[in-house]
Amino acid sequence: MCGLIGIVGTPDSAYESFLGLMNLQHRGQDGAGILTVDPYCGQFSLQKGSGLVENVFSERSFRNLRGLCAIGHTRYATIGRRDPNMLQPFLEAEAGIGIAHNGNIVNCYQLREDLIDRTPAIRFSTESDSEIILKILAEALGDGPRDVSTVFLAITRAMEVLVGSYSVVGALKDGSVFGFRDPDGIRPLVFGRKSMNGKAAYALASESVALDYLGYAGIDEIQPGEAILIDSNGQVTRKVLHQKTHSSCMFEWVYFARVESEFEREPVYRARFRLGTVLADSIKQRKIEADVVLPVPETSRIAAIAIAESLDLPFRELLIKNRYVNRTFILDGQESRQEAIRRKLFPIAAEIEGKRCLVVDDSIVRGNTAIQILKLIKQCGAREVTVVSTCPPICHPCYYGIDFPSPKELVAYNRTEDEIARVLGADRIVYQTVEGLKKALEQDSICAGCLTGQYPTDVSSGADFELKRLADRQKQLS
Ligand code: SF4
Repeated sequence: MCGLIGIVGTPDSAYESFLGLMNLQHRGQDGAGILTVDPYCGQFSLQKGSGLVENVFSERSFRNLRGLCAIGHTRYATIGRRDPNMLQPFLEAEAGIGIAHNGNIVNCYQLREDLIDRTPAIRFSTESDSEIILKILAEALGDGPRDVSTVFLAITRAMEVLVGSYSVVGALKDGSVFGFRDPDGIRPLVFGRKSMNGKAAYALASESVALDYLGYAGIDEIQPGEAILIDSNGQVTRKVLHQKTHSSCMFEWVYFARVESEFEREPVYRARFRLGTVLADSIKQRKIEADVVLPVPETSRIAAIAIAESLDLPFRELLIKNRYVNRTFILDGQESRQEAIRRKLFPIAAEIEGKRCLVVDDSIVRGNTAIQILKLIKQCGAREVTVVSTCPPICHPCYYGIDFPSPKELVAYNRTEDEIARVLGADRIVYQTVEGLKKALEQDSICAGCLTGQYPTDVSSGADFELKRLADRQKQLS
């Protein structure tokens, strides 16, 4: 999962991209990059580096990153985490195109072989699926003119062969910015506009929070399979090129997106609140009693408030987060994850002792985080611990860019709720159901592949990716 931004129509495009990426930092912390185009000389400027956005760019960066348009990327790695070559945006300077991509191409190894068959002299600088998208677009654009019909034709060709999830923002050397979203709309992309000194500026981003922050209004979702081109004169053209389903990733709502964002004009905040309300109903039905509701910070807080309100129980922040420690979900390897959990949460023992606690978490993947947290709570003398997960059991891998491991590493794989509770060290566990999830999100059509094993695209080549991911992880750990 990564964060994307694209800005066109302002000399501050690079700085706005930087600010936009700061607001998308939660989507990836491995590295960041910004690509600008000076349309007067057709020159690209690119800066990227490892680490947090604020550490990659400095004041000097914005003297070099010049132009009326820019695209930016913040990276969350599923493979090649330590490889700086994998940082985006990717640029084909000779072809006059650069792109940044969020998602995962399931058939990337096949597409790579096809590209080599067609053009034996082709050179890849990385193993990234995003570079393959770039090569396919550059090949389809060729040396011909770049106008809306040729750009949309190139994107259509790409959509015909790419299998998986992809939101893409791109820049052409004439100063145009384009964007598109996969035919199932798995990964998000939003568009907004604003007026600056009487001139229009436009922006694309993974989440509305980045555009809101930058003052863009009229924020609108790019539809599944839709492409948009904003040329250097500010002409905007949008067209649905190849639509299959509406299958946006349920995990954006549950965990990944900022709570200030909106998808499909629905605030993530409200969706998370409803996740809690639906769960409270099933807690009531199961006649589970408790003294206090406490969230595992940060993502589950809104659902925990809803549960406490619905059950008429006190809501208490009893796990205090050390905000200088990174989110464990994005860290490398098991060991660092477990250490980080111990470092990052501090329980308020005096308020936990002797209480029956409803501990609300957004999701449980491997279970390592939950095991450590429950250990902490039990050590504080909790009388009883019920774990409440706003996400249903995750039993299948994600092939679309979320680092859910192979099934055997998933705590919910092949286990009953009682067995999961035992592994975690809880007295019981209450999971959201898939029906409850859809009801809470008010979405009939979502991707829930990791919950049900039913994916919106063919994932038969996903095993190649999984093998590569495991080999990569092994390499990092050795
Ligand atoms: S499989 Fe799960 S995590 Fe992956 S895109 Fe679908 S819903 Fe999201």
